[in-house]
Amino acid sequence: MIKVFKFGGFAVSDAGSVKNLVKIVSEYSDDQILIIVSAMGKTTDALEKLCNSYVEGKEDAQDILKTIKQFHENIMVELFGTKSHPVFDEIANTFVEIEWMLEDEPHPDYDFNYDQIVSVGEFLSSRIVAAYLNENNIDTKWMDARDFIHTDNTYREGIIDMDKTRSSMPVLNSALQKQTVVTQGFIGGTSENFSTTLGREGSDYSAAIFASLLNAESLTVWKDVPGIMNADPRLFASAQKYEELPYSEALEMAYYGATVIHPKTIKPLQNAGVPLFVRPFLLPDEKGTRIDSTAKLNTDISAIIVKQNQMLLSISSKDFSFIDEHILIYLLQCISEAHIKLNMMQRSALSLSFCFNQDEAKFRKLYDILKDKFKCKYNEGLDLITVRHFKREELETITAGRTIIMEQFSRNTAQIILQ
Ligand code: ASP
Ligand code: MG
Repeated sequence: MIKVFKFGGFAVSDAGSVKNLVKIVSEYSDDQILIIVSAMGKTTDALEKLCNSYVEGKEDAQDILKTIKQFHENIMVELFGTKSHPVFDEIANTFVEIEWMLEDEPHPDYDFNYDQIVSVGEFLSSRIVAAYLNENNIDTKWMDARDFIHTDNTYREGIIDMDKTRSSMPVLNSALQKQTVVTQGFIGGTSENFSTTLGREGSDYSAAIFASLLNAESLTVWKDVPGIMNADPRLFASAQKYEELPYSEALEMAYYGATVIHPKTIKPLQNAGVPLFVRPFLLPDEKGTRIDSTAKLNTDISAIIVKQNQMLLSISSKDFSFIDEHILIYLLQCISEAHIKLNMMQRSALSLSFCFNQDEAKFRKLYDILKDKFKCKYNEGLDLITVRHFKREELETITAGRTIIMEQFSRNTAQIILQ
């Protein structure tokens, strides 16, 4: 059976981590392995900068590109030694695609430019990883994710055409019968053969799509954490790891902002019944966390999810009229058009208040639409804390010494906005 392994940016951030990846894969020589990789280290951020500089016609585009090239070249030199290895040409050719773009005028659609440039990060890393697996006698084929993950033209948030994507799986399946396959997370292709991306951190989602459509035995995401923790160990010293979690709970946690897995990852796996393992990349003998339908949830442990940099916007009418259903629909429409995702919402007779990730551009867009018709008040720099399976005493400890701006409780979930 097929096992899908996903290695994020951290797991391919330098030569040492690529070596560790190969060591992990070599332990599974009896399995059919599909490897999904992210861009190396912080390459996606660097490519975003490059794209902005290009679109804004700034002068530092070439310098940014040079830094990205140098970063990859250093890793290759450490892995392959001499520059005579064919991977150096493959990588140079991959960069040529960006260079050609940079010589032309930017396309009027920023998101289109973004996807053509930023997707290159995954092409670079997958080429290097595939070459290094072959170098270590793991017979590996590099494949282009755009031939499998078919999307529409929604650049930066490509919507996958599931039927078309499903019908391309037999080709991948038969390749996997013969060789280990390396492909890219995060990217797809349109019917006109342009690249799309699936949203930041989207390679977990790609891996879930591959695993579910291939009916894989499992998906393993190799992470820089021991597994799924009930809280961020950097903020809560007593954080502990879950041995197992039901799909539904993992989905809730991702939805409320636990960053260890992308929120879209769970649904395809649940639908296809493919278990997900979240395992520590640096301690590959550890079991990590298993997520499937048989897992039992230990509600003695509460999950604490902290989202920082939150904004709270309260909208009320100027003439003392109710926020009725009509107005509510209008407001939600405006919020959706500004691409704002609500993290918490509360309504009273005269106002609608909601909390979302601070993003100046999106906020301005919404504010400009609403400011003439409504009274708008806002706070910035807040924390939103969500506690699943909360205990009252625990909430007191979490909020001690802080000002509570707003709170909301359901049977299982407490949400508190703190200053
Ligand atoms: N490389 C992309 C990003 O950093 C996708 C991913 O890592 O999942 O957002
Ligand atoms: Mg990443």
